[in-house]
Amino acid sequence: KFATVSAMVKAIRVHEVGGPEVLKWEDVEIGDPKDGEIKVRNKAIGLNFIDIYFRTGVYKAAAVPFIPGMEAVGVVTAVGPGLTGRQIGDIVAYAGNPMGAYAEEQILPADKVVPVPSSIDPIVAASIMLKGMTAQYLLRRSFKVERGHTILVHAAAGGVGSLMCQWANALGAIVIGTVSTEEKAAQAKEDGCHHVIITKHENFVERVTDITSGEGVEVVYDSVGKDTFEGSLACLKFRGYLVSFGQASGAPDPIPLSALAAKSLFLTRPSLMHYTAKRDELLETAGEVFANVANGVLRVRVNHKYPLSQAAQAHSDLENRKTTGSIVLIPDG
Ligand code: NDP
Repeated sequence: KFATVSAMVKAIRVHEVGGPEVLKWEDVEIGDPKDGEIKVRNKAIGLNFIDIYFRTGVYKAAAVPFIPGMEAVGVVTAVGPGLTGRQIGDIVAYAGNPMGAYAEEQILPADKVVPVPSSIDPIVAASIMLKGMTAQYLLRRSFKVERGHTILVHAAAGGVGSLMCQWANALGAIVIGTVSTEEKAAQAKEDGCHHVIITKHENFVERVTDITSGEGVEVVYDSVGKDTFEGSLACLKFRGYLVSFGQASGAPDPIPLSALAAKSLFLTRPSLMHYTAKRDELLETAGEVFANVANGVLRVRVNHKYPLSQAAQAHSDLENRKTTGSIVLIPDG
């Protein structure tokens, strides 16, 4: 019922930022849960592009060494003193803060986890907590996609992109996606992209102009950043929205306000954390994602599984654009 004796667990740790080789497989002591905390034995860990930003130092971790990872599903193995509402044996998921998911076990604040419905496989849950909740707030809250809107989604075959295309299609939007290869284009089509632009061969601004008969799109969801930002602005119609939510190719260059004034545009640079900071927002957002898995709106693509100890290979594949859909790391895989 209360804290167990702490023991060493295996985890991936970063002592200095750099390439995938800085991800070290080590024994670490994670301690016992304190007030308001639980200990979770992870069954599956979601790999996200943000893990690469932290590994390379683009985003700064609070301290080194650190255990990366911001998404996992596992079973509660201990609860902090006096904690109610969570029990040993519960299957729970979390996404976002705190870092530390690349470990066999981790300590989490109890108010950051959500229960996983028994109908959803833990590996599936670990593939959609962070990416699915991101798709939810991007499509429903940062800009509210309605039936008949035309939207542009960059990296349409990626983890977040695949879920966004399926969800936006179900909302009745006309979905234009960009991808780098023919294989990725085939997946994006299956996911409900009405028009797929292969950036290796085509200029996406020209194609969007063509597809929309010169009018432009209501919203661009841009997670690529540096390479696409300017073109994304060019794809917008009057009073369009640019939702710049990532920087896989690097941080976008600064723009003058006059770039927005040219078409009365809106620009936002949102973060999942700010859309799930309150407990009720977290539960509602995760609940909507789980419901959309259960009702078939979202077909989860768990396209890549790696043993946790092989996290470096997984990072290398993700940053070299070799992956599609979601990637999970399995602690005992
Ligand atoms: P993805 O699976 O989408 O992988 C990134 C994809 O970006 C690649 O597969 C690639 O697709 C494309 N890409 C374009 N240029 C580059 C480049 N130079 N280097 C690497 N990839 C490139 O990753 P995730 O689903 O984990 O994340 C998608 C994006 O969403 C990331 O930018 C991430 O930071 C962001 N994000 C933001 C959140 C927020 O709240 N702000 C929350 C969650 C994710 P292709 O080859 O088809 O171009």
